[in-house]
Amino acid sequence: MSKKPLVRDDLNILKGYHSPQLDVPVKLNTNESPFSLPDGFLEELSSALEKLDLNRYPKRDANELCLSIAERESLNEKQVFAANGSNEIIQSIFLAFGGHNRSVLIFEPTYAMHSQIAKITGTRVVSGLREIDFQVNADAALRLIDKEKPEIVFLCSPNNPTGNLESEALIKSILAKLNDSGGLLVLDEAYKEFANQSLSLTVDEGSNLIFLRTFSKVWKLAGIRLGYLLAPEWCIDEIKNVSLPYHLDSIKQKAGVLALKHENEMLAQLENVKEEKNRVYENLLDFSVNVWPSEANFLLFKPNEIDGYKLWSDLFEKGVLVRDCSSWEGLEGCLRVTIGNPEENTRFLEALQEILNNG
Ligand SMILES: *Cc1c(COP(=O)(O)O)cnc(C)c1O
Repeated sequence: MSKKPLVRDDLNILKGYHSPQLDVPVKLNTNESPFSLPDGFLEELSSALEKLDLNRYPKRDANELCLSIAERESLNEKQVFAANGSNEIIQSIFLAFGGHNRSVLIFEPTYAMHSQIAKITGTRVVSGLREIDFQVNADAALRLIDKEKPEIVFLCSPNNPTGNLESEALIKSILAKLNDSGGLLVLDEAYKEFANQSLSLTVDEGSNLIFLRTFSKVWKLAGIRLGYLLAPEWCIDEIKNVSLPYHLDSIKQKAGVLALKHENEMLAQLENVKEEKNRVYENLLDFSVNVWPSEANFLLFKPNEIDGYKLWSDLFEKGVLVRDCSSWEGLEGCLRVTIGNPEENTRFLEALQEILNNG
């Protein structure tokens, strides 16, 4: 038996990020799209695959894809960076701007990968707590920034798993502070398309605000692993410096270009998801649960008379998988359900009815 190499001391505290991939009929735990991809996209992708020179390295700058994204966003192609999911971009942000002796400010509860990836890259995590209805208090946030002087601040709008938007006033006041101190403000907008309001802010070369987006949610391409960053050129250049050469494969680059070309079909069920979310929300109000309004494709709720984990496992027994958030700080007893297709949502509501009303 060999003596096992030890990992870095600072990694011992990490438990890893686990959303269990269990095989059940109704999967409502990871906020993916429940709908299949449009035929036109699939047909064009398969004929494009035959023409790719897979013996060659991919285009290092993914120019065609970045240009397509830039056009859609009315930006310059040099203000776009694409990677293997927005998670890889989060990692690159920490590699470039975080790391040893640096810190990031995150407002809990929020997307667990922000702090997880920070820790993996040796970045110290400073946690602020959200207040009532999960809003970030601007004065408290500015005080924390003065005290801790973080190099990076993360906001998430709509926020996962709570579903609320970050207010534009909050974003602007944090941004003004960071523009003075030389900090970076990262706005994770994975669920942007589901929201009924959008921000007036956009990429500005004279400002430290950057935007994270993904093809994993409304674009139905979670299996492809593709996300992108919209940021000033100086920031994109630093991110490129820390990314691996040829990190984005040719197949994925092509899939992204074709997805944008088929935008209308790709996003066809968006209104349906919003209507279904309203239906599930209204139905949840009739149960003995607390449910929060959401601007995303999921709802956070908390049963009043039964333990959160108990409800999670009872739903699982009935073939419905939701996300158990009950052990997260600030979310005691809470579960999160993704809006699926109408049949899945109905099955979820029926299962809830059977559990809560039959004790
Ligand atoms: C799902 C999600 C993402 C997506 O990550 P990918 O790596 O692009 O799949 C990013 N941010 C938040 C807040 C999410 O919920």
